[in-house]
Amino acid sequence: MEKQKRFLLPESELPRQWYNIQADMINKPLPPIHPQTKEPLSADDLAHIFAAECARQELDQTHSWIDIPDEVRERYKAYRSTPLVRAYALEQALGTPAHIYFKNESVNPLGSHKINSALPQCYYCKQEGVTNVTTETGAGQWGAALSYAAKTFGLECAVYQVKISMQQKPYRSSIMRTFGATVEGSPSMSTRAGKDIITRDPHHPGSLGTAISEAIELATTTPNCKYTLGSVLNHVSLHQTVIGLEAEKQMEMAGEYPDTIIACFGGGSNFGGLAFPFMRHQLQKGNGKSSNGKWIDFIAAEPSSCPKLTKGKFEYDFGDSAGYTPLLPMFTLGHDFKPANIHAGGLRYHGAGTIVSQLLKDGYMRGVDIPQTESFKAGLLFAQTEGIIPAPESGHAIAATIREALACKKTGEEKVILFNLSGHGLIDMTAYDSFLNGDLTDPVYEG
Ligand SMILES: *Cc1c(COP(=O)(O)O)cnc(C)c1O
Repeated sequence: MEKQKRFLLPESELPRQWYNIQADMINKPLPPIHPQTKEPLSADDLAHIFAAECARQELDQTHSWIDIPDEVRERYKAYRSTPLVRAYALEQALGTPAHIYFKNESVNPLGSHKINSALPQCYYCKQEGVTNVTTETGAGQWGAALSYAAKTFGLECAVYQVKISMQQKPYRSSIMRTFGATVEGSPSMSTRAGKDIITRDPHHPGSLGTAISEAIELATTTPNCKYTLGSVLNHVSLHQTVIGLEAEKQMEMAGEYPDTIIACFGGGSNFGGLAFPFMRHQLQKGNGKSSNGKWIDFIAAEPSSCPKLTKGKFEYDFGDSAGYTPLLPMFTLGHDFKPANIHAGGLRYHGAGTIVSQLLKDGYMRGVDIPQTESFKAGLLFAQTEGIIPAPESGHAIAATIREALACKKTGEEKVILFNLSGHGLIDMTAYDSFLNGDLTDPVYEG
């Protein structure tokens, strides 16, 4: 029989609801708390900076399913479903008996999974009479996705991009500007927070911390302007569950069910997006048995230079370095942690989202650490076998997949491995150049 490589869903089969894992968790995530009063924050409190509907979703621990608005589903149809692909050539190159599948989230106009949450966030802003959105971005994938989504829904968009990343990846600011956004390197002279930083240190290279502070300041001082975030928060992972819900049906088309599910890990949104819909079968039973008889090994792949899942502490911490955000219960390396300047910009974040932190604490998943050069080596093999140049972030998921597949080669197990290809690396070729020239190092974490 001829072997099928790609699996796609017809439009009629696209998800109509997102899956809210919080409703099914036995131990619920602890609430965000106010840094001064230490009181739990309500959705109304969060709605000062975020769209009100996003604030409600953030704290919703009762509804397992949340309707995807029709207008968002229409926008999703422009690029969804994304293909589920069997990586036959990679399997062959590794000589593994494992079956390797990947969900390809790189095939949309922006090149990463971030658009799945940018669209609903902008939609809700528009519905609520907001006219402007703002955000921070590091490598620029989130800023690019938000710029496009804002334009789609007729919103103005202002992005603060980490200054050093702006210089390293100039094409990402070009993309944002092409979609009509204004882009400023952070720290900038346009906010009080930025001026303060520049006054103290005129050559400050910027960080996600400085950029978050500037974006929040803009949102709170501009009428009808909301702040948006592309990772970490619960409502972002919620929107990303379209990935796993599609993958579940596509794996069924392939006649298989995953033993292992892998994604790279920055704040947890692409991991949660793929993993949570599958994890629901385990959570809904809650007695150590899965409702469909399968028990999946969930693996989050983080950089060994920024290892919050494996070496972080579970505690309340700030989401930004300045300490402007609410306190969140998470695995963290400390909000003043300065990650090494690795090329996987999307994975350089000190903390993990609160849902994933609770699931990790409760033993539903595990983290693994990947050195930078191992991730690029994996990315290169993937490019040379499957023909897709992966984002440096996604290279971490591929490296973890290769480790698992090589373990199967030793034991002879025919495991089914599913990983998420969170984005392509075509705007990151300077990083590949550095690797090919032998210039990349493996910064170590010094805790
Ligand atoms: C932002 C980003 C990530 C990391 O963010 P998560 O919220 O952990 O998914 C991973 N891959 C790509 C391509 C990204 O743009």
